[in-house]
Amino acid sequence: MNILETIQHELNTHKEVAFEGYCHDCHTEVQVLCTVNDSNEIIIAGGAIYKPRDRTFLKCDACFAKDPTLRNYEECEVYSRVVGYLRPVKQWNKGKKAEWKARKEFKHDEKWEKSNESKHRAT
Ligand SMILES: [Zn+2]
Repeated sequence: MNILETIQHELNTHKEVAFEGYCHDCHTEVQVLCTVNDSNEIIIAGGAIYKPRDRTFLKCDACFAKDPTLRNYEECEVYSRVVGYLRPVKQWNKGKKAEWKARKEFKHDEKWEKSNESKHRAT
C-alpha cells in the first residue's frame, strides 16, 4: 500500500489521520493532519508525508515549500580499504574507525600536476 492508499484506508474508518514527528529537514516538531472535505477530497495540512520503502518521513510546510523533494534519507554505506581489504567502515573495529577519522583526504590538484609535467619535459 502506498501512502495515499494507507491514508484513504484509514479515512474510511476515522474522521482524521494525524502523522506526528519531526521535520526531516529542519527537525522541528510537525503534525500533518489528513481529513476528507465535503467534496470527498483528501485534505493534507501542516506539512507533507513521505513513505519510501515502508519508512515514514515528514516535512513541515516551510521546508516543503523550499524543497518538496525528500533528500538524504537513506543511510550511505562507505567502503574503504582496511589492512588490504575493502570493508564497510561501519563494520571496522574501534581502533580502525579512529584511524579512519584521522585520515586526511587529499584533493587532486591538476595545476600541480601540470607544473610537474612541464618540469619533467624540461629535464
Ligand atoms: Zn521543516
